[in-house]
Amino acid sequence: MSKVNPIFKDFCKDYAKDVNRVLAAIKRYDRIAIFRHIIPDYDALGSQMGLATWIKDNFPNKEVRVLGDNHVTFTPRLFPEMDSLNNDWFKEPFLALVLDCGNTSRIADPRWKKAKFKIKIDHHPDVEHYGKISIVNTKGCAAAENIVNIILNLKGNYKMTAEAAKYFYIGIVGDSGRFQYSSTSEHTFQIASYLLSTGIDIAAIYQNMYLKQLDDLYVTSYVLNHFHVSEHGVAYYVLDAKIQTELKITTERGKENVNLFANIEGINAWCSVTEDPKDRCWRVSIRSKRTPINEVAAKFDGGGHAQASGAKIKKIEELPLLIDELDKLFR
Ligand code: AMP
Repeated sequence: MSKVNPIFKDFCKDYAKDVNRVLAAIKRYDRIAIFRHIIPDYDALGSQMGLATWIKDNFPNKEVRVLGDNHVTFTPRLFPEMDSLNNDWFKEPFLALVLDCGNTSRIADPRWKKAKFKIKIDHHPDVEHYGKISIVNTKGCAAAENIVNIILNLKGNYKMTAEAAKYFYIGIVGDSGRFQYSSTSEHTFQIASYLLSTGIDIAAIYQNMYLKQLDDLYVTSYVLNHFHVSEHGVAYYVLDAKIQTELKITTERGKENVNLFANIEGINAWCSVTEDPKDRCWRVSIRSKRTPINEVAAKFDGGGHAQASGAKIKKIEELPLLIDELDKLFR
């Protein structure tokens, strides 16, 4: 596929100059740290590992590090362990690339602040501007899609190995729900096609991404036996700390069953509600068929995309209020 495909140029036309400023920053710094949001998903890790691999493949002399929390099940099945660095590493000048993270409070390692030069690359609504260079394009279904687009628009020829392409592909597949959400565009498919041309094995990738354990079926069974639906079609399930222990899952995994309700007639929005004993709060993952729900999420200490957002409540007693706010959207 030609690098100069007009669809790739058009996608980044609002920040065309910044694309090569990112390249210049990568060339300028010998130390590069790549950050993304806490409780990572396929796209957070896919874009982080994809970009780290791409930089190492093209600039083998750079010291590239990946920071943040590991994923409870994707590590090490899909992604390698994150680097564990002591504070001395951050004393030398370094470049921070912060990916897939709309708000600074959600960046998975606070040491991004120590960077000499910071770059934000994201696809969430730009609620908080940060970084010397900020490339935010909400047209991308995934941060990984935006990053591959940047790479394809760089001056000069750079290689995309199958290893880097695999990570980017995982990010795109994860955040587009296997190319089914409305955020999937012709550009998404062109980028996926380019990644496929590197020789990645998509059957192996899907097998790894969606591999389940027998115990996972008991979690699904619990959810199917205990969900609620509000008057105007907001489905939700609650997993308190006790039931998480009984079901042998961690808090991060509470949202894994949320999309069971995605294709049910009469269900307009759906949520998982998971107690987080460490943070003394309840994490709510909200999804919607069409109607934007991110403004409701924003009222409850959250945010995200129009049809996929996260929120937090301090006490379970606040849940009826949140469900009612969502329900109102469909009255
Ligand atoms: P989740 O339900 O955690 O999978 O999150 C859905 C989307 O909303 C992801 O793109 C997250 O990055 C984003 N998101 C989740 N929680 C928050 C939050 N508290 N503030 C802003 N965005 C969030």
